[in-house]
Amino acid sequence: MTDCIFCKIVAGTIPSIKIHEDDLVVSFMDIHPLRRGHVLTIPKEHQQQLHLLPPETRAHLVNTVARIAEAVYRSSLKPDAVHYAVNDGPAAEQTVPHVHMHLLPRYKGDRMSFMMRLLRKPFDLVTGPVAGDVLMRDADAIRAELARVS
Ligand code: AMP
Ligand code: ZN
Repeated sequence: MTDCIFCKIVAGTIPSIKIHEDDLVVSFMDIHPLRRGHVLTIPKEHQQQLHLLPPETRAHLVNTVARIAEAVYRSSLKPDAVHYAVNDGPAAEQTVPHVHMHLLPRYKGDRMSFMMRLLRKPFDLVTGPVAGDVLMRDADAIRAELARVS
């Protein structure tokens, strides 16, 4: 879809910091991360909701995110846990109408700071994206570990 921002990332017409790409999916750093190491994985095919994807693509999407989670666990980010999250439609807080799975690192005792960050999320467009060098550094660390995940 020409006016879809994630289709533009798939087409390479807008920049992204990619972690992984293959025939079916692309993974890249969230530009307004809720936490360091916040990665989005999308199907190349434009669909708004998970159940509308071909089963093979859906399965590959979930498998890819789980592999990236393993890489994030092994990386210097060393989370204690992660969220796998899909906001599957506007009423579920979906702001980009192209299927995407969030991978979000969590740490013991970070509940309060995580909730505060969630409350600030609607103001991301005002505050702008986080520094590209931090995103690049984390992407490098995750990519290096991903190469070792089977
Ligand atoms: P959702 O609220 O589930 O639709 O999440 C959409 C996510 O996409 C948000 O976390 C945004 O920060 C993220 N996002 C929007 N535009 C971009 C972009 N150009 N590059 C990377 N992440 C983006
Ligand atoms: Zn799209």
